Amino acid sequence: MFDSHVHSFFSADCHTPPEPLCEAAIRRGLDGIAITDHFDYDYPGYNASSQIDFDAYIARLDNLSSRYGSKLQVLKGVEVGIQPHAVDQALRVVRSYPFDYVLASVHIIGGVDPYAGTYYIGKAKREAYGRYLEEVLFMVRHFPDFDAVGHLDYITRYAGYPDRSMRYADHSDLFDSIFRELIAAGRGLEVNTGSYRQSSAAGSQIAFDVNILRRYKELGGEIVCLGSDSHGADYIGYRFDEFVELLKESGFRYVAHFEGRKPVFEAI
Ligand SMILES: [Zn+2]
Ligand SMILES: [Zn+2]
Repeated sequence: MFDSHVHSFFSADCHTPPEPLCEAAIRRGLDGIAITDHFDYDYPGYNASSQIDFDAYIARLDNLSSRYGSKLQVLKGVEVGIQPHAVDQALRVVRSYPFDYVLASVHIIGGVDPYAGTYYIGKAKREAYGRYLEEVLFMVRHFPDFDAVGHLDYITRYAGYPDRSMRYADHSDLFDSIFRELIAAGRGLEVNTGSYRQSSAAGSQIAFDVNILRRYKELGGEIVCLGSDSHGADYIGYRFDEFVELLKESGFRYVAHFEGRKPVFEAI
């Protein structure tokens, strides 16, 4: 099993060097991790110094890969945050370095990260989540070079609704359009267990809607990557056992990770 979404201190929002992440992955019995630090061009407050030194990043991950050898596979990933006007800048990064895995994510809707909380003001849940999924659909249609789409449920993380869960039935057309784009292009869907940390919005309920996976499968989706989105050692592999059960219930027999931009399947 691989954790395909882990951040290290190469991301501005994380202070942990990659080594303790690898040690935690080994302790948890994982076979590998993809370190997927952020490239979010024009994130609010972005300037040239916000950008990762990708040469140093790649060198560090190559070094870890040799150091851990057969104990743990360390894959070179990147999480590119896409906004409609930032497609070219992200593409340049993706095509300039020898990544194993490119995860494409939406973190900003109309110039605002929902992390700030203001995004939700005056919006009912369905509208707030629908606007997010529209941005994801734009991304999967217009960003031409990625392997899997990150955390479709990012928008639930900072919402204050009594039930924050995102449901397939509330946005079936958007989910279907996103899935069809992914499947036609041979790309994958990430199941991000980090969205289901109970601590992310205290007191507010959240559950994963298994109908999302069932529909992806029904439309022909085969590639599912599991990622914890951990920004430190504590959440590596978070709730993977439970999510593997949900995947099996939804008809999946494999999970995937990417090596050299190609999916590798492991039976579950
Ligand atoms: Zn993200
Ligand atoms: Zn992330």
